Amino acid sequence: MFFGEIMNQVLNVAVFEGDGIGPEIMAPTVDILRLLTSRASTYGLNFISLKGGATHYQKTGVSLPDDSLSTARKADAILLSAMGLPSVRYPDGTEISPQIDLRKKLNLFAGVRPVTVLPGQASPIARPDGKPIDFVLVRESTEGLFWSQGCGEVSHDEARETLVITRKTSQKLFEFTFKLAEQRRKTGRGKGLVTCVDKANVFRAFAFFREIFDAEAGNHADIAANHAYVDATALWMVQKPWEFDVLVTENMFGDILSDLGAGLMGGLGLAPSADIGEGHAVFQPCHGSAPDIAGQGVANPFAMILSAAMMLDWLGHEHDNKELLEHSEILREAVNALIMERKFLTRDLGGTSNTGAAANAIKSKLRA
Ligand code: ATP
Repeated sequence: MFFGEIMNQVLNVAVFEGDGIGPEIMAPTVDILRLLTSRASTYGLNFISLKGGATHYQKTGVSLPDDSLSTARKADAILLSAMGLPSVRYPDGTEISPQIDLRKKLNLFAGVRPVTVLPGQASPIARPDGKPIDFVLVRESTEGLFWSQGCGEVSHDEARETLVITRKTSQKLFEFTFKLAEQRRKTGRGKGLVTCVDKANVFRAFAFFREIFDAEAGNHADIAANHAYVDATALWMVQKPWEFDVLVTENMFGDILSDLGAGLMGGLGLAPSADIGEGHAVFQPCHGSAPDIAGQGVANPFAMILSAAMMLDWLGHEHDNKELLEHSEILREAVNALIMERKFLTRDLGGTSNTGAAANAIKSKLRA
């Protein structure tokens, strides 16, 4: 390579288009990413479409084929729309959820759930000074109370589930969380504060969680750290969410608080997410496959597109590529602009646009 020559990194993105509205929101998202990539000089994206999900299970009896899993494992990132259909179940009655299998198999311990409320965005709460609300909830996603999933003990008179918190996972989780707070502060999105959400006043397991958090906080003198009990956090998320920057918590607490976060955002149609581990990450909207509106072309593609923006950001940090970071920001800003202008919104946000029109409006913003 000559001095000054720009290296073009081609990154493989595994794509699961999923079930229900999944294919309807994935197709325009990939189109939008192709448009951004067509202007990139330092990276390229190679999309690999993979099989999996409830519809695939119906046809083949397999929900996540081995070759899909191994290709996803080798990919640089995984983009997933929504999987599962209430009418398609395993013989034991549980729903098909390969996205949860991926989380376990790839050890995606950090569930990142940003909560953003922009001026003009329909939300049950309003910030008194009219500024945006912007914080992130990091939900541990491989242990906690969900560790017990499928192996609880139930007798006629008693039921028990076990909560597990390990030092190893907690250390990785907190390290990730403080790094995220550092990134947010650098870009002006956060004030540099991490809050550990627990119930350390009642359970020894959470005192243990908190102790590991405090040890990691000691390694980040530049970031402030504090604690909050989960019940108080639920109250403050409604009363003064603008005071939060990055919250980190156990799996079950995170499961509940992230839906509260989506509620603050005015619904699931705008809530993106990422599940991140070491070298692997899945990006998908918080919502499900919405079978009630599937096939009508009315699904809101914004949460999927915002998840794709999170993917570009993560890839930018993983590969130390500034252009990917810039493209992530450009894409996020394009979606935010439409939300604030209240233009080209889908039905769930009070608009009349269909999926295609909403996605095309993003493309127009990017072209402009
Ligand atoms: P899961 O358990 O798979 O997460 P869920 O039971 O939470 O799914 P969703 O599939 O998320 O349910 O749908 C909940 C409601 O939100 C439905 O009425 C659905 O139509 C609506 N909804 C979800 N996603 C979207 C979207 N992208 N655009 C418009 N409406 C949506």
